[in-house]
Amino acid sequence: MKYAEVQNCIGGAFVSPDAPTLDVYNPSSGEILSRVPLSGGREVDAAVTAARAAFPAWSATPIRERVQVLYRYKTLLERHIDELAALVTEENGKIANEARAEVLKSAELTEFACSLPQIATGEVLEVSRGVECRVERYPVGVVAAITPFNFPNMVPNWSIPNAIALGNCMILKPSEVVPLSARRIVELLAEAGLPPGVLQVVHGGRDVVEAICDHPGIAAVSFVGSTKIAQVVYRRATGNLKRCLALGGAKNHLIVMPDADREMAATNIVASMSGCAGQRCMAASVMVAVSATEHIIARMAEVARKMVPGKDLGPVISAAAKERITRYIDEAEAAGATVLVDGRKTVVTGKEGGYYIGPTILDHVTPDMAIAQEEVFGPVLVIIRAKSVEDAIRIENASPYGNAASVFTESGGVARYVMEHASAGMVGVNVGVPVPREPFSFGGWNDSRFGVGDITGRGSIEFWTQAKKMTTKWNKEAGVNWMS
Ligand code: NAD
Repeated sequence: MKYAEVQNCIGGAFVSPDAPTLDVYNPSSGEILSRVPLSGGREVDAAVTAARAAFPAWSATPIRERVQVLYRYKTLLERHIDELAALVTEENGKIANEARAEVLKSAELTEFACSLPQIATGEVLEVSRGVECRVERYPVGVVAAITPFNFPNMVPNWSIPNAIALGNCMILKPSEVVPLSARRIVELLAEAGLPPGVLQVVHGGRDVVEAICDHPGIAAVSFVGSTKIAQVVYRRATGNLKRCLALGGAKNHLIVMPDADREMAATNIVASMSGCAGQRCMAASVMVAVSATEHIIARMAEVARKMVPGKDLGPVISAAAKERITRYIDEAEAAGATVLVDGRKTVVTGKEGGYYIGPTILDHVTPDMAIAQEEVFGPVLVIIRAKSVEDAIRIENASPYGNAASVFTESGGVARYVMEHASAGMVGVNVGVPVPREPFSFGGWNDSRFGVGDITGRGSIEFWTQAKKMTTKWNKEAGVNWMS
């Protein structure tokens, strides 16, 4: 075991709970990296106590002072990028440049949090003579973030910098599958000067999540993961009268028109479906090929076949994930789909124990197949044929998800039609992965997000704060009217 058993962090101290453990695997080799404790209600309670103790001083610290910690944290993320990226690769499997991009994105998220003193300034207006209304933003208190396996460094940083910059104290519950990056996040924040108790980490699975949703001392919960668990968490947290923003799974449709630039479309689509081994909630999952697009599909197949698993493409997260993905492909093939590029038999020399599956493209998939409807979460793209952009939009709109959608075309009119009619929170034109960059906010629609608002950017300010509306009158000479 390369790393010592993972510990919780409560009140600035790393502690080992008295709890059963789960093995943590390196998906590239199948080797055991560490063990993670499966904490429970007791550990969540201790974390809430520590966060509550830190809250009065932290929330009373002016925001400009609070973000000084984050300026230093951003520098530390950049300084330690090689080491942080290597850790992401070890526990998640993604290749080196994808892991670096993830850490760089964490730095960008932190940069946005550093700008919050300029953005979350409140409002003031003289509403009638001598009477002034102002709005000031206050933290909500002790809050929690529950995160998935696919971005061990970035997704925690979707919530941590903004939530703490805005004055909250937080409990992070990382995915038990990738628990190692969280420790470095906490250590670097401590080195940057974050006071003990502002951020706790409680490791575990379902029991920790349920304890977070139930604990009366926690005011708000952000969740990122599958739709099934997002619904469970949203219902449970809001049932306990907490605010909750729960981001779920995805089934992103890319509509490809015959006039699309062949090279741009082909390379972008293959990069979108195969990046991070298809384990991104923004990954291309369904390509809706409108009429004469054979030349683009042929080029996509060429690009995908040239990819070298183990070098250009990492493994999927687990043996179970590999089995699940393979099953989807087998079933679609049996139902009549054509396997254009087949990654099922992939073995990486020297990494035979890794959970590799090569890029896979299936053509002539029909909308009724499970592989066309459900989230596969692997490097798999299905192609559904459509006659017109209106047909393509009907197919996209029928999906219960609504994270991202894209169109590849040279026509402004067609692009505008898709931007307007796609039922998704994040829409791209000639972009395979339409992630909004800061200060724009990240968040989907429909079954890809439960709750109001977005998780990053300006949209997160509302979630992590509560507005206080104040009305004041100091001018005794002012005219008297119904308001004064
Ligand atoms: P997951 O839903 O299995 O796990 C997410 C979190 O929920 C983890 O911390 C896990 O410990 C916890 N959890 C798991 N089962 C639970 C249960 N029964 N009760 C309570 N908590 C439970 O998701 P994952 O496999 O870690 O991540 C992949 C999923 O996340 C995909 O569906 C992907 O689309 C989604 N995702 C969505 C976004 C987005 O922005 N919408 C971003 C990243 C990932």
